[in-house]
This record gives sequence, structure tokens and C-alpha cells, in this order.
Amino acid sequence: MKILVINCGSSSLKYQLIDMDNEAVLAKGLCERIGIEGSKLTHEPMGKEKYVVEKPMKNHQVAADLVINALLDAEHGVIKDIKEIAAVGHRVLHGGKYYSDPVVVNENVKKVIKDCFDLGPLHNPANLTGIIACEAAIPHAPQVAIFDTAFHQTMPEKAYLYAIPYEYYEKYSIRKYGFHGTSHSYVSKRTLKVSGLDPKNSKVIVAHLGNGGSISAVLNGKCIDTSMGLTPLEGLIMGTRSGDIDPAVLQYISHKEGKTIDELLNMLNKQSGMLGISGVSSDFRDVKKAEAEGSHRAKVANEAFVYRVAKYIGAYTAAMNGVDAITFTAGVGENDAIIRSQVCEYLGYLGVKIDEEKNKVRAIEQLISTEDSRVKVYIIPTNEELMIARETLALI
Ligand code: AMP
Repeated sequence: MKILVINCGSSSLKYQLIDMDNEAVLAKGLCERIGIEGSKLTHEPMGKEKYVVEKPMKNHQVAADLVINALLDAEHGVIKDIKEIAAVGHRVLHGGKYYSDPVVVNENVKKVIKDCFDLGPLHNPANLTGIIACEAAIPHAPQVAIFDTAFHQTMPEKAYLYAIPYEYYEKYSIRKYGFHGTSHSYVSKRTLKVSGLDPKNSKVIVAHLGNGGSISAVLNGKCIDTSMGLTPLEGLIMGTRSGDIDPAVLQYISHKEGKTIDELLNMLNKQSGMLGISGVSSDFRDVKKAEAEGSHRAKVANEAFVYRVAKYIGAYTAAMNGVDAITFTAGVGENDAIIRSQVCEYLGYLGVKIDEEKNKVRAIEQLISTEDSRVKVYIIPTNEELMIARETLALI
């Protein structure tokens, strides 16, 4: 049975076609610059040449049709009949308070995704457009929505409420939601499996450190806290996002520079984080290179990033009254041995000990703590597409 996984951004559409009989990726690809000049589809069928189509894509519907054509193409395709696609799993950013599980899309689900446009203004409209485009392009297949917020819906009130007048929660559902849920769900489950911990008696911290980053506390298999908030801006220092700051900073800059709240939020989302402190780049590899070349700002950006990660791990250890396993995942978490090692240096008081030889690996599943470490530390590569495909299959 084959499942198509779709992840739409405001001007992009990423896809993977997965054969669920052996969980093999048959093809993957990306439509870029949808709705703007220079649209391009890059299609990678496994075992065949990469195939690039440069054609105007005025909207996601055109992009979805091109993806279907590529999948069916006599030379570059991987299926013969559209009916081979049994279902489509869509990554959807924000499900608000409504969904804690994947759902088969119907009119009500589409209404909820729309009702959450305010909460995910860049992603939710694109996600809905992608669903509507696939309904038209693959009409026989059920469409399934998998929400990035869903895994975190088990957080208790004390973790998700902001200490602002309660009426804003009641009127507008303003609270912490958390993101990267599919990744936290996959990686925490995998951690339980490889560690042999009893899922009903386990304390796991997942550090998803990529261009966007978030940490979650998973007690007995359920998320009880996570670092992102109402939006993905809260929490860790990220590529271009500030993470936690004193909100009064916004008023201060606004008064000094006459900037609007929208301009300031744009600054916090797009010009801050590693880019803002280092002045070099949002990419951790560039910042590291700049540090090696003597840039003080790059050095401080790296130090501040590691420090914030360590503080969250400390906080979540307190929240769970202990920790059995800590798992690193995503671009930085999977690849950057130095950052993993520096984070763990802060955690010596918990009895965390890293085996630096084992820690040298990149992007493979591995235990990196020593035998006598009181906490197990893992690298587990995240696989959000596979998780979406599995959840889609389970639902249909
Ligand atoms: P992601 O958002 O999960 O794709 O992660 C992207 C981030 O991972 C970028 O900032 C990259 O610099 C970082 N990254 C990827 N490979 C490496 C590496 N080998 N060492 C350090 N950082 C890396």
C-alpha cells in the first residue's frame, strides 16, 4: 500500500511517496516558488535520475498536478496508476485545541484548519490549499491531517496556561500549543523502544535542534511540557527566531525606533536567534566556521544556544522529578557532536556522562552515553514523513 505525504509551506510543496509494505521511499521531491516567478519541481525517484521541471505554478493546485504527473511519468515515474496511492497524509501546522490525533479530512476538519489561520498565518492557509489541491488531483484517496500541535495536547493546564488575564484564554484560546509534534512523538517512542524503558514508567526529554528548535518533556509516553508556545517563536534560540525574551523589549524598541508590533514580530522571527547574535548566518555550520575564524559574536551565539538548551533540559528534569533518557534529533542534534557534548557538560550534576568516541557519529541511531551514565543519551534521526505515513495508514 502506497501513501503520499504532503508538507505545504506558503510557497512550497514537499512530498514523499512511501511504500508501506516495507516503508521504502519510492520518490520524493519539492515544488518551490509556487505563486512567484521561477517555479520549479525537483523530483527524485529512487534508483532513477533526478528530474527537474521548470514551469509556472500559479498555485498549489498546479503544483499538486505536476507532482502527480511526475509520479506517473513513463520515464521518471514510480507508479502506473493514480489509484495505487491509497491515501494522502498532510502535515498541518496548527490544530488549536481541537485535535490531539490525526483525522480523516472532512468539511469540519477543513473548517477547524481555517479557524486556526490566525494561529498559524503562514502555514495553515498553505496546508488547507494543499489538502484541497490533493482532493481534486487524487479524488479516490482519503486525505488525512496530522497536526504539528497534536502530540502536545496532553500538557496539563499548569504547563500550557500563560499568566495573563484568563479572559484571553477563554475568548481567544491563547495558550501554549507546542510544535514539531510529529518529530517529538516519533523520537520519544523510538527512545522508549531502543532504551527498553517501561513506557508506563519513563521520563524522556527530546531535544529537536534544527533551524527551528524545541524541547519536550515526555512522562510515561505523554508530553507534559514543550518549549514552543502559541507560535513557534517561544523557547530555544533558533536559526532566526529569538526564543524566550522579555516582552517589554518590544515596547522599548518600538518607542526608540517607531516600529510597529508586526515589524517587531517579523524581527523576532526572521532576524534574531543565531543570525541576530552572530551577524553571520542562521545556519549553525556557518556560525561555527565564523567562531573558528575568531568571531566573538559567533562564539557567543553558540554559547548562548547551548546554554538555553541545557537550561530547558534542567527545567524539564525538574518538571518530571528526574530523567531516564535524553535524545538529540534534527539537523543540529543529529550532526553536531560538539553541541551535544557541550550541552551534556552542563548536565554532569544529573550523572550524565558522554562517551566522546560514540558521540563522533552523524545522523545514525546511537547511544552516546557511557555505561555508568545515570541517564541514557541518544541520537535518534527524526523521520517526520515516515511518522505521517504510519499515522495515515493506521487511520485508514
Ligand atoms: P533542520 O531544520 O533539522 O533541517 O536543521 C538545519 C540545521 O542543521 C542548519 O542550521 C544546519 O546548519 C544544521 N546542520 C546540518 N548539518 C550539520 C552539521 N554537520 N553540523 C552542524 N550543523 C549542521
